[in-house]
Amino acid sequence: MKTDFLFTEAHTYPSGSEDACVTLLFQIKWPDGFVCPRCTYSDFYVISTRRLPLYECRLCHYQASLLTGSIFEGSKTDLTKWFTALALVSTEGGTSANRLHQIIRVTYKTAWLMLQKIRYAIGCADTETLLLGTVRVNTAVYNRPQNSSFQASPTEQPFFVGAGASMETPAEPDYVKMKLIPKQYIRDRVVNGKAIQAFTESEIDGTTTDVTFVAQRYSSARFIPLLQLAARACRWINRTFMGLGRKHLQVYLDEFCYRLNTSRISTCILSTLANLCMRAPRFTYKQLTSFSS
Ligand SMILES: [Zn+2]
Repeated sequence: MKTDFLFTEAHTYPSGSEDACVTLLFQIKWPDGFVCPRCTYSDFYVISTRRLPLYECRLCHYQASLLTGSIFEGSKTDLTKWFTALALVSTEGGTSANRLHQIIRVTYKTAWLMLQKIRYAIGCADTETLLLGTVRVNTAVYNRPQNSSFQASPTEQPFFVGAGASMETPAEPDYVKMKLIPKQYIRDRVVNGKAIQAFTESEIDGTTTDVTFVAQRYSSARFIPLLQLAARACRWINRTFMGLGRKHLQVYLDEFCYRLNTSRISTCILSTLANLCMRAPRFTYKQLTSFSS
């Protein structure tokens, strides 16, 4: 697949070359022009002897790397391939590692790790955003068996689907989150108060007073639009990834919510995603491969 058309979707991506990617990432990292990370001086030399340029401060001679502090740091994969991955994640249905590795011609493992790094960046950005305004939260279940047994299935994964909306338009959420409920807070399919407390503390702004939780499956007060969003997320996961276990489910739920939330605001999803990836906190291989809670 040619990458050019993916980059022209947003006017900031004039072509699919490595140079164009470097220019774009430079603008994201230093939107007001180069700033030396050590002394804040703004004048620099470009050192072009490596695969990617280094930027040397003319005052203290510190050599700054473009990719330091981003999910791309240390990667040997071409930036054009990274941007193809970002573009595919930004499309409505996202992408699987199986599809990505065929498109950009890297190994399946490399493609999987690239996507996990992107999802990690998305998850980090989500933790910085809290639900505000009129907040409604409902329990939902991934992989709920069709039978009506009262016994919980070992494969079913309960999660909270929560949304914050303005008082004027409570039916149109500004931001949606889906978070797995820790297993220690569930017994016989009943979610206890500690789960609600944990979600409230980590996902809802402390100044918000209009918060309603529905934790019972058949409650007449349940929030149908939220459950419909949760069902869409589950269908997308099963269709695109052929189903998932608990271990990685959270980052896929975050990815689904990311597309949902950014599609509601008038911004380029690809550009926003590139920004997130340039400022993701440091991670370890272990963090990328073990997200379970
Ligand atoms: Zn300097």
